[in-house]
This record gives sequence, structure tokens and C-alpha cells, in this order.
Amino acid sequence: MIRQFELVDMVKAYDPDIDEARLNRAYVFSMKAHGLQKRASGDPYFSHPLEVAGILTEMQLDCDTIVTALLHDTIEDTVATYEQIEELFGTDIAKMVDGVTKLSELEYTSETSKQAENFRKFLLAMSNDIRVLLVKLADRLHNMRTLHYIKNPEKRARISRETLDIYAPLAERIGMQELMNELEDLAFPHVYPEAHESIMKRLDYLYANTENIRDEVITELEKIFAKNFIDAEVIGRRKQPYSIWKKITYRNVSLENQADLFAFRVIVDDVGDCYKALGVIHQVWQAVPGLLKDYISMPKPNGYQSIHTVVIGPQRKRIEVQIRSTEMDIIAEKGVAAHWRYKNDASPKDGVHYRWLRDLLEILEHAADPEEFLEHTKIAMYQNQVFCFTPKGELINLPSGSTVVDFAYAVHTIIGETCVGGKVNGEPVQLKRILSNGDQVEILTSKAQKPHKSWENFVVTGKAKAAIRRYTRQQQKQEYIRLGEEILKHSFEQENREYTIKSINDAANKLTLDGGASTVFEKVGSGEISDRKVLEIIFPRLKDKKEIKKASSIILDTKRTHKGGDNQLPIKGLTPGLPVHISKCCHPLPGDRIVGIVSEGKGIMVHTIDCEALDVYTEAPEAWLDLSWHPKDEDSEIFIGRADMTIKHVPGALASVLSIIAQDDGNVSNIKFSERSADIFRIELDLEVRDAKHLTDIISALRASKFVNTIERAFT
Ligand code: MN
Repeated sequence: MIRQFELVDMVKAYDPDIDEARLNRAYVFSMKAHGLQKRASGDPYFSHPLEVAGILTEMQLDCDTIVTALLHDTIEDTVATYEQIEELFGTDIAKMVDGVTKLSELEYTSETSKQAENFRKFLLAMSNDIRVLLVKLADRLHNMRTLHYIKNPEKRARISRETLDIYAPLAERIGMQELMNELEDLAFPHVYPEAHESIMKRLDYLYANTENIRDEVITELEKIFAKNFIDAEVIGRRKQPYSIWKKITYRNVSLENQADLFAFRVIVDDVGDCYKALGVIHQVWQAVPGLLKDYISMPKPNGYQSIHTVVIGPQRKRIEVQIRSTEMDIIAEKGVAAHWRYKNDASPKDGVHYRWLRDLLEILEHAADPEEFLEHTKIAMYQNQVFCFTPKGELINLPSGSTVVDFAYAVHTIIGETCVGGKVNGEPVQLKRILSNGDQVEILTSKAQKPHKSWENFVVTGKAKAAIRRYTRQQQKQEYIRLGEEILKHSFEQENREYTIKSINDAANKLTLDGGASTVFEKVGSGEISDRKVLEIIFPRLKDKKEIKKASSIILDTKRTHKGGDNQLPIKGLTPGLPVHISKCCHPLPGDRIVGIVSEGKGIMVHTIDCEALDVYTEAPEAWLDLSWHPKDEDSEIFIGRADMTIKHVPGALASVLSIIAQDDGNVSNIKFSERSADIFRIELDLEVRDAKHLTDIISALRASKFVNTIERAFT
């Protein structure tokens, strides 16, 4: 067991300015707190935090981290409290100890790789200070080193599985290769006992027959470097059994083909020598194409730098060589914990001992390879996320600020839509309760429940928001449709018009609205379109009327005829002195495009431009007179317009038609029944109107009537 003064010396060796008293206080506090507790090994429990602190001094971590390591199990396993630690060691230390405690409370259960990745992200999010994660990793390393004291093989396997799934990849992610290798090799035999045994047997056999190759390679490399004046150290290390096993399993290579039972490493002084060394190796041994990797110019996201090459070495055996500088080697082994020593060797007073923490963040943030970047964790990224668990232990990853409702929708839309309440860590909570990292959330549902619009005010996830909005929009739409229909029925009544679905469908067409009447109702209900506007579209005459006359009687005033036939007609382009007649074939109305035909003895005949009667004059352009209407004034003339319509042969149909015409200030001067059948009348109507628009408006109102099948303006 490390003794008190030894620990202080270990820290002082790399940081002479530490707060010695504080370190001593932590040592004593932890020792007393753990008291007579024992480890599975029979050692006093205190030996564990002490060893964890020792591991962290090897990484040369700052005094706060070492203090945290000493205290890391006190809140969880002893009577010591957060407040006590805060009072004695300050808020920063208390928070870090609390952070490690929280990480330790989490249990990783699921075996799917997606869950493992989520869990790793979760751990990163939880350790908002990366030092918390480092303490946790050192804690795990010591527990793995002493795992064999645990008697229950299932427990050993479970802890080891967690180490392989979660902690070893995390160590790799922050560039701590050495830590990762040790964790993996400690866990391997407990998780895959048979695989481990057979691989170890096989490796023993292979190594027994290849040791001479290793020596041969090393001797040869040393010789060629000396010859080329490169100062290099050559190491040939056995590869980790677990990494060999991973390759066999995932890449499906057989053990015989393993070029890399040994990892040969060439360590030189600087970057320049790395490339020189590579050059001479390739001169002596043939390189295997496609296997050269230059992680010096393109470092891995975790900061790893090295050149890897595979060559055909002695006895025609493939060998893998890694070439790197001393600095790169230390960084590769110790990870970012070693970074600062090389990057910032100046200004030791300026928090140099944890400057690498910032470097780590930088490395993670500015990783070169976007794919790896996404895969590797950017710590800041997960700090605005919260990770919660279902009662079954499934991890749900949500943006921070997420509520119980967000969680419910994240599990399933149906769960979201029917959720009536929730329990967080067993306690009933409100739906808008904001979740914290590590919360276990249980959703209570009811088939009678419907999403509430008010939920929109507190949910934060896009999924929940969209689903609630979709639902409430649907609900609202139904409301609007009901309301709009009521409003329109009422307005029709007010205007003494007959309410028909047909007319509303017509209005929808005129407004170019998809969905027919129900869309019109919806828009009227929501206030987007006024009921008045709909009425005016159906009955255009309403627009010009301030007061609507009640159609108490049907006026068939045949005595009123237009006063055409003289020069008082509001037409421009007439020849003075010539009599003018409005033709009876096409009934031109003010607003229509018109032409005049001059014929001897008859004067000028006014036709619409598309009147069929004009056909006869196409060969006589001298007869044509270019005419147009004067702008209309209030007391303008009355003209006759003609419409051709079919109406239903039912009682009241004709009365209704006439009433519509009267309401719109039209006057029927003549009615001709051109066809009568069992179910329809075909009628030719001559109408007294002010102009073409007046006629079109009346036609529009008639078209909306449920009695009217078809209606068109007639030009014959
Ligand atoms: Mn511990």
C-alpha cells in the first residue's frame, strides 16, 4: 500500500507547487471514512482509492484529480456526505467526487452495440469535467486488476463485459492506448473464457517457433539504421491477445496469417527521422501495397500519430512496423494526459498540469476524419443532452430540457399521445417535469387521453412538437369546419338566400380551394375568409348592394325595354348621323367587346366581337366599325342580356330562380321554355341588365342554386 508521504512525493515529482496539506487531508479523510471496510482481497478498503490515486499520478494529473481519486468512494460507500466534502475540500472537488459517484451508480445492462455507444456518450455527458472520467477509468483499472479476488464468476464476467463494452473504448477514445490494452486483456478471459484459452495456447505455440524471427528482425533493423545514421530504438512486442482475437473474430483472418503476432516499433528522435526510417525499411524489405498508413500527417482524432507499414521480412514473413518519435510514442501510450508536456513546456505556473484537458477538447472537436469525428465523442456535444432510462433499462437520449412528454414520444408516438402522467425514479411527477441525466422514467398511459395543445409550450424535441401540432391541428380543423358551416348557414339566412352545399362547393372552386365545401367552412371558421366574401362570391350582386332587398315578390316587368336605337347609346366610335341598333342576335352589353357593321339603309348594327352573324362580313372589311363602350356611369342604360339554362323540374324551382334574379337587381324581360322533360326545363332567359358584368354576376348567383343544373350566357 502506498504510504502517505510516498503519494505526496509522487505528485511533487511532477508538480512541485501542489497544496501538500490538502492532499494529506484527503488521505486522512478517506482512510478514516473507509475505516475497517475490506476489499474482496482482504485488504483494507482504503488501499483501493489509494491505488487509484497512484494510477493517476502516473498520468501526472493535477492535485485536484488526485484528491478526487482518494475521496471517490466516500460518498457512495461511507457515511461521508457531499456537504462535508464541500466544506473540507471546496465545491470543485465535491462536484468531481459526486460525478464519479454518479458514474459508479450506473449499471450498464443492455448488450446491443447501439446501447453501448449511447452509454459511452452518456458517461461522457455525465463527466462534464473530463477528470471525472479519468478517475472513473483509473477506478475501473484497479478494480480489473483485483477482479480475480471476486469469487462469483458471473459477477466477474459482468464487470468484464462492461469493461470491454464501455470503458476500454472510452480509454481508446481519449487516446490512452496503454490503459485500453490493459483493461481489455484483464477482461478478456472472464468474458470469453474458451476463446481466451485457445488463443493463449495457440499463441504459446506460435511464439515458441517465432521468437527467433523477432530477434532477427530487430537485429536487421538496428543494422540498417546504424548504416544510415538514424538514431533509433527498435522494440518487438507481442500483440495483445484480445486485439488478436478481435481481428480473428471481426475480420475473419486465421491466426496463421497474423502478420502481427509482434508489433515492431521504431522510435526515433523527430518527424524527419520517421520518414527517413520508413525509406530505409522499404529499401531493405519489400512493402505490402496498400497497407502503409501515415498517421503523422493525418493524426487519429484521439491525437495518435505514427507511420504504419507492412513489409515482407526475414523468412518471407509479413511483419508490421510502426515508426514514431519519442514524443508520439508517449502520447500514443499515455494519451492526451501526456500531451501538455510536449505542447506547453513553458509557463509551468499557468495551470500547465491540466492544459492537456483543453487539448483533449480541441482534439475531439477538430478531429480530421469526419466519420471518425462523428463516431468519436465530442464532449461538449453531449453536454446539451440528457440520457434517461426506461424501466427496462433502455437508454433514451434526449436534448437537455426534455420533459416527461418528450420521453414518452421518444419511446413511441402512441405512448406520447396517450400519456397521462409519469414516474421519475419511482416518484409521480407532472408531465412537464424536466428530466435529468440518469433518470429512470416510467410513462403512465390511458386510452382516453389525447394530446393537449398546451404540451407544445413545454416539449423540446422535434418529434413531440410535430406530433402534438399535427394532432391539435387536426382537432382544430374539425372545430373550424363545424363553426364555419354554422356561420355560413346563418349568413345565408340573414341575406335571405337559400343555403346549399352545392353553392359552397362552387365557392371553393372559384377560390381555387382544394377539398370543396369543408375547406371553405374551415377557412370561414378560422377567420381566414369572411362569410361575407363567400356570399359575395356566390352572389356577386351582394357586393354592390348596401341594403339587401327582400325578394317578397317576383317582378316580371316586360314593359321595361332598353332605349337603344339612337345616338344616345354610350358607345364610342360611332359615325354621327347614322342610326344605331343593338343586334338581337348576340345582345351586346356594356363591357363586351363590340364592333359595328355599317349597312346601307340600316345604319350601324352593334354586335359582340364573337357573334356568328359577323361571319358574313369577313369578306367586307370596309363595313366594319371599331366600337367601344363609354365608361359606365350610375344611371346608365338598361340592356338585354341572354342566358341559357337548365333547371330542375320541381315545384318552386322557377320561383327560386326568379327570386335570385330579382335579388341581384336583374329583371326578366322574356322567358322561353325551349325544352321540357320529366326532370328538367331548358330555358332561354332575356334579362335586363346594366352591363356584361351584371349579367355574369346574376349567372354566378343562379349557378349556386340547387335548382340550377347548368347556366351559360347565350349569344344567339
Ligand atoms: Mn472505486
